[in-house]
Amino acid sequence: MKRILTASLHHESNSFNPIITGRDDFSIQYGSELFSVLNDSDSISGVVKTLQDAGYELVPTVCARAVPNGLVSKELYLELKEEILVRARAAQKEAAIDALCLSLHGSMRIEEIGEAEGDLLESLREIFPTLPLFSSLDMHTTYSQRMHDFSDGYVGYKCAPHTDCFETGVHAARMTIAALEQGVKPVSAWVRVPFLVAGEKSETSTEPMKTLMNALRESEKHDGVMAANYLMGFPWADSPDSSVAVLVVTEEDESLARSEAVRLANLFWSHRGDFQFHTETYSQEEALNVAFQAVNEGPTPVYLSDSGDNPTAGSSGDCTNFLKLIVKDKKTGSLEQPILYGGFFDPESVTKCSDKVGEILELEIGAAFDIMTSSSLKMIGRVKAFLPAWGVYKSDLALFSSGGVEIVLTSKHIGFVDPQMFRDLGADPAQRQIVVCKLGYLTAMQKTVARRSIMALTEGSSNEDLGSLNYSLIPRPIYPLDNFDFESENMVCIHGRQRRGC
Ligand SMILES: [Zn+2]
Repeated sequence: MKRILTASLHHESNSFNPIITGRDDFSIQYGSELFSVLNDSDSISGVVKTLQDAGYELVPTVCARAVPNGLVSKELYLELKEEILVRARAAQKEAAIDALCLSLHGSMRIEEIGEAEGDLLESLREIFPTLPLFSSLDMHTTYSQRMHDFSDGYVGYKCAPHTDCFETGVHAARMTIAALEQGVKPVSAWVRVPFLVAGEKSETSTEPMKTLMNALRESEKHDGVMAANYLMGFPWADSPDSSVAVLVVTEEDESLARSEAVRLANLFWSHRGDFQFHTETYSQEEALNVAFQAVNEGPTPVYLSDSGDNPTAGSSGDCTNFLKLIVKDKKTGSLEQPILYGGFFDPESVTKCSDKVGEILELEIGAAFDIMTSSSLKMIGRVKAFLPAWGVYKSDLALFSSGGVEIVLTSKHIGFVDPQMFRDLGADPAQRQIVVCKLGYLTAMQKTVARRSIMALTEGSSNEDLGSLNYSLIPRPIYPLDNFDFESENMVCIHGRQRRGC
């Protein structure tokens, strides 16, 4: 039975957020623990199940995942990497490994080190210099030459929100099987398209992404194309690799890889002016006014996104500027139902709420981590609910009611992606007039409740106004910060098993 080594590292690291993401933020499985967390919605499960169903023996090393946040701790990353390498060497000693098939994010960044993926792959290639090595990637991968040089091919998600993670894992597994069973020696070509774009302008159900993603699917129908990708990058990390990348992997066909990569890069560039917000979007003051007006017009709930401080885009989740605006507004107190606000990453306040349900407390909410964007807000109010160890990341949750707002406080840095969080705290969002979430575009789950969605352009380390971010490492020129001409033909890098680098 052929043996395939696997590992999974998933983190989207926001370099503008001062929090260092550490061990407590990660859900980590070592070795065979991976088999107990398989599901039908993530890429590592797609990789493992497909290869097992095809009769391969899977050798799992480490699977680690955390909610997007600031850069990952160097100490933690080096420990995880060492664990992967030690397990890889031990497995190889036991019986020969035949291939590697991984599930990586592509925008995981480590304090003092930089990109995680290229670093890990380079080390794995020292142990397995010639074996087929493939990986699935997140669509928001920040692709680098190092990633390109040390792998045989990648396939990224084609849907944002990411509803095709499992299928992408299946696709990566099939590329691995093709290399093992048909002796395919992949050749890939990539083009850096100097472009920065926020996820809120690039949902794949909207244009121009719909057209672009369909072009990838059409390209993959060509004989010899193993995968065609738009890797969109991650604008809230200042990195020398920040950009969109087009990556085409073919079966040993350099000229096809090159021509498809150039064609898809030109197609992307031709749509550069078409990216825009598809949610109603306003300044924070205007967004709040429009929301109050929408309540009068109905139907409700009206959802408001506090988009500049979105923990699922790696922001700290503790910026208070939008909360202050809401509390100050007289219209807040005149609503029939308190505004529901999900929420604030505030471990200290959560601890204070523990065992205090029903009691009146004074809390200093927010700004414990991102002290540059806002200051904490003193609020006197009642603890309405407390839940220990909620969800996958086992965050304690408190619901705190003050000044016409009910605020969810979390002990872990988690996203406000699921309305069930509100329900579990005894607050049904469907019964509220206004629900605020620290999110950009709404998740599919929140959308099922929202009757209208408004995005507020607020401050924080996921600020949607990319021009306001303090980039120093991103290579210029880059669109839309600069105006320039782009020649994709001059930007192609080829890589095959026999041929490395540009
Ligand atoms: Zn993503």
